[in-house]
Amino acid sequence: MPSSPRIAVLGSINMDLVVRCAHLPSPGETITALESLEIPGGKGANQAVAAARCGGIVTMIGRLGKDAFGDRLLASLRHEGVCVERILTGTDCASGIAVVAVESSGENSIMVVPGANGLVSRADVESASEIIRAADALLLQLEVPLDPVESAVQIAVDAGVRVILDPAPMPDSIPDGIFNADVLCPNQLEASAITGRPIRTVDEARDAVSAIHQSGVANVVITLGANGAVVSDGDSVDWIEPYRVRAVDSTAAGDAFAGALAVRLAEGARLVDAARFASAAGAIATSRLGAQTGMPSRLEIEQRIAEPA
Ligand code: ADP
Repeated sequence: MPSSPRIAVLGSINMDLVVRCAHLPSPGETITALESLEIPGGKGANQAVAAARCGGIVTMIGRLGKDAFGDRLLASLRHEGVCVERILTGTDCASGIAVVAVESSGENSIMVVPGANGLVSRADVESASEIIRAADALLLQLEVPLDPVESAVQIAVDAGVRVILDPAPMPDSIPDGIFNADVLCPNQLEASAITGRPIRTVDEARDAVSAIHQSGVANVVITLGANGAVVSDGDSVDWIEPYRVRAVDSTAAGDAFAGALAVRLAEGARLVDAARFASAAGAIATSRLGAQTGMPSRLEIEQRIAEPA
């Protein structure tokens, strides 16, 4: 295994209040659910844990409230080996939460209350700029305000640090700054929003990558859930066949994918090879309940890759 790459992650940290139910309630419907769980989540923290379990030396940049969830979220990131020195805590806002309903088919519906994540600022990023400059890759999503995201991307680009950006959740108007990333990693809905055309199939994703390249991104990875992923480095477009799994919770497949992708790219892997590794990570994550708790280890990913797809 190559020497461990340093990954800086800027993003959200939430407590996921997960409710398992037989079927998701319709508007106005009351159902009796099966069980409730409190599981550490937030796209940023999920991707940080995914990258750490894949062997990255990960520093998380973000914000928490000074409250019970904040304490538990910090402890859990520490337990995963993620450096938490750049996570700021304050009394002015509660820690972020997500209310996640997961039905037995694996389908989910999620409400996110940003809380402290909404206070992440350009100044926070500037005060962590030496971490970004010293990293082998910067990994970001859009669950914190766009201004600090764009600032972090710029710091990394200026320092020649690889930037992997997962444009989730996609805001109503697409920020230009995301196209400065070296690798843009949207799912099919986000890729549809970027290109303005529906993307449901592998062929539609193949057709869409050139439109995304035209916005200035060198490398594009469109994740397609159970249909795998389409990757393009501008020279060739490849389909990454999905690994077969029994999906129970699709919550953090994209986060597992992005964290694993960042580690392999930071290790110097080719885009297509990094995406194959990430695809196995995403598949394994769907076979388990919970965001961070379901993230696979490097060994599990390598074992899955060694088996038939
Ligand atoms: P997001 O969670 O961002 O919507 P996706 O659902 O596209 O992301 O999943 C990310 C990746 O995880 C996919 O590209 C695929 O490689 C893998 N994956 C997701 N769901 C499945 C599944 N049901 N079976 C196999 N692989 C899956």
